[in-house]
This record gives sequence, C-alpha cells and structure tokens, in this order.
Amino acid sequence: MTQTVKETKVERIYNFSAGPAVLPLEVLEQVQRDLISYPGAGMSVMEMSHRSAPFEGIIHTAEADLRTLLNIPANYKVLYLQGGASLQFSMIPMNFLPTGAEASYIISGVWAQTAYKEALKLGKARVAASTESENFTRVPTQSEIQIDPQDAYAHFTSNNTIYGTQSLVEPEVGDVPLLCDASSDILSRPLDITKYAMLYGGAQKNAGIAGVTLVIVREDLLERVPKNLPSLLDYRLMAEKESLFNTPPAFAVYVNGLVVKWLLSIGGLPEIERRNKEKAALLYAAIDTSGGFYRGHSQPDSRSLMNVTFRLLSEELEKKFVKESTAIGLDGLKGHRSVGGLRASIYNAFPKEGVAALIAFMKDFQAKNG
Ligand SMILES: *Cc1c(COP(=O)(O)O)cnc(C)c1O
Repeated sequence: MTQTVKETKVERIYNFSAGPAVLPLEVLEQVQRDLISYPGAGMSVMEMSHRSAPFEGIIHTAEADLRTLLNIPANYKVLYLQGGASLQFSMIPMNFLPTGAEASYIISGVWAQTAYKEALKLGKARVAASTESENFTRVPTQSEIQIDPQDAYAHFTSNNTIYGTQSLVEPEVGDVPLLCDASSDILSRPLDITKYAMLYGGAQKNAGIAGVTLVIVREDLLERVPKNLPSLLDYRLMAEKESLFNTPPAFAVYVNGLVVKWLLSIGGLPEIERRNKEKAALLYAAIDTSGGFYRGHSQPDSRSLMNVTFRLLSEELEKKFVKESTAIGLDGLKGHRSVGGLRASIYNAFPKEGVAALIAFMKDFQAKNG
C-alpha cells in the first residue's frame, strides 16, 4: 500500500544562531525525502526499532563515514551518547580522574570553566592557564600553559562559542592525555586525531541536531574506567555495547550521518575548512575596514572561524542593529548574554551568500548610523 505526500514551497532566512544551528539544505531535503518512509523500511527513522536492520545500517554507516572523514585510527572508539557536551563535563572526571590524581584544565571561556567546575565536584582539578582576566579575548598561549606530567589528563576547549576565539593548534601536553571539547568546531577542519586521547562535542552546532553527542576516545583510556559506575555514565560499557546499551538518540544519529555524508560529498574537511576560512575572512575584513564602527571582541590571533563576535559604539546601537537585521531575515545575531554585542555564527552549513548579505547590511547600517 502506498500514500503520496503533498509538496510545499517554503522560505528560509539566514540563521546565524550559535546552536542549534543551520543545517545543509541538502541534508534537510534528504530528511524530508526519508521522513515518511526511510528507503527499504516503509516507516520513518523516528518509528523504527534501534535493533532493526535499517537502524543498524544507519548507525554503522554514520560511524564508518565519520572514521573516513576524520581519518580516525582503529584504536579509537566512536560513541553516540546523550546529555550534550555538558554531561561529558561530568563523565570525564568520573571515568578518567582516579582518587588521588589531578587533572588540569585550560580555561579559555565559560564552557571551559563549566567543565572545570564539574570536575571539581568529582575530584582534584587545577587551572593550567586562564585568560579570564582579559575577558577571554584570546586563548592561552603555549608558554602560559602549565601541565604536570603526572596529570590524569589535560582538558581544553578548541572553540569558545561565546567569545568567538579558537585554538587552531592543539596545546602541547607531552604524554598527558589531551581531552578536547570541540562542540562548536568539530568537523570544521582537518585534525590529527592521534594528538587527542578524547575529542567530543554535541552535534547541534556543526554536525547535526540536538540529542546526540559525538565522543571519539582512545581505547587505552577506557582501561582506566573504574568499576561500578552507573551504566549510562560508563564509557567502557557504552563502547562495548557500540552505543546501543539502551535506546540511542536514533533520529539525531541519522541526521549526523547525513551531515557527515554531505561533508564527504563536497570534498571532506579540507574543502569545508577552505569555505570556513573564506567566510570568516570576509566578515573580519568588514569589521576591520569599518574605521572602528564595528570592533571585534577577540584578539586577531585568536579569532574563531565559527563565531564572529563584535561590538558597536553603544548598546543602543547594538539593539538597533539586531532589530533591523532580524527584520530583513538575518536571524540570531544577538551576542551571548555574558558578552553582549553581536555574534555571527557561521558554521559549516552557513552559506557564503548569507555572509555577503550580512556584510551588505553592516555597510548600510554604518552609512545610516555612523
Ligand atoms: C554549546 C556548547 C556546550 C554545551 O553543549 P550542550 O550540548 O548544550 O551540553 C559545551 N561546550 C561548548 C564549547 C559549546 O559550544
């Protein structure tokens, strides 16, 4: 028995949201095509058993494609977990910070600080470096970072979503396992996974929709996991069960798989990095050539390719900017409440035309208000 679905014409605006964020149109169209009936299954992904053959195909393909995209070595596990990056902040010390040991945290923003505070609830942790006194306008430099070779692990945040700063090179931590919250720049550029003991991030910024958290973890770390952790908080168990200990966030895994396929189809991480650099360069140039009307929050050598933060001369003008940009379909430009100002999140799927539209609006706004 078959049923047909009526097609509708829809309009989309430019979505600068920091997360959940814009998805590739090709992915949305694929979701739409599959929504009522996933090919071969006769039902939607939302309706199928996570133990069914179609879903096994979805999760295995998503993992295989992710391994290809990021060139993940065989001695790393890929986990699809729930609870967002925020739950990882707790799981990391529960699993990898034994009693008596100490972990070090590089504090480059609010998310890094949150990770550190969660660790303090569960064990001993230390600040390895912090740029808080400079209002997180830059990431710590290598010479500022103090790692002890005895540290259980060192944790850093690769992209500081709120402040618009990014570490494009990993901190050097010697033999100490390096753990990274890459929630807002995962899959945005090629990475050497072997530099990391664990890399993780919620999918909803650069890799799909809310509900699934990607965790890439080196197998030897799993040997440290203490016995008798609650099952859902136990990396080793989740790895043994291939993320299917219980019902996974099935639809979010499916969308992540489509995003990864889309990245492979356009030429992989080198190509998305090229696009991301191009978009960011255009936007930073518009800020830098505004004669001080627009002022970037982050210091130039720490500038994020994902979140471009800037201020105007007064809060009043910033409010006006948000109101008028929103009215013409440039949505989500209001900065995070802890920094203020404006933030343009231009993740992987954000189109270059949207950046051009924002720059045109910025010039026009300056001409009228400068
Ligand atoms: C958004 C974000 C988080 C929080 O993610 P949740 O999935 O909401 O828990 C953590 N770290 C960074 C860097 C983020 O951008």
